[in-house]
Amino acid sequence: MKVLLSPTQLQEGVQQMAEQVSQHYQGRPITAVGILTGSLMLLADLIRLLDVPVRIGLIQASSYRGETTRGELTINPELLSDIKGHDVLLIDDIFDTGHTLQQVISIIEKQQPSSVKSAVLLLKEGRQEVDLRPDFVGFQIPDEFVVGYGLDYQDLFRNLPYVATLDSEDLAGEPE
Ligand code: 5GP
Ligand code: MG
Repeated sequence: MKVLLSPTQLQEGVQQMAEQVSQHYQGRPITAVGILTGSLMLLADLIRLLDVPVRIGLIQASSYRGETTRGELTINPELLSDIKGHDVLLIDDIFDTGHTLQQVISIIEKQQPSSVKSAVLLLKEGRQEVDLRPDFVGFQIPDEFVVGYGLDYQDLFRNLPYVATLDSEDLAGEPE
């Protein structure tokens, strides 16, 4: 495992994002909707730095199913409370192909919020397959599989206080 972003770097990146988000909303209340499970750390850290009133919402999306390749995406909006007329800020761990965020946005928009913006901790360079780009990005990273600070490999490593790349020997049982 190799550390890509240290706890201090993460803190600085999240602080910068928080300033941009606060600047954008100018004191208006927002509903921060975390995309489970990977967004937990960013959600908790970011909203504590925001200078606007915050409601919390949660939505579940899973695509990786414990592997490093993309599986079918499932989205469960049952945890999401009423967001009609709210300014929604979607929060996710990483923007890779972009399909997750695009599909979550289309589900959120059906509930008629007044606005939808998105904040992601990481954006992987050169991987995007959709036109959409997140409104707030913590860090651009190279196209490598990363874990930590919410991101998992087979549901492990989410608790690491840093973001790290996995070496092939860390990917136990991974097919060629
Ligand atoms: P997308 O739909 O943008 O391709 O993928 C977004 C989701 O894929 C993320 O929320 C995350 O769960 C997963 N993902 C994409 N890249 C990585 C990565 O490098 N590491 C981990 N752990 N998950 C990733
Ligand atoms: Mg995720």
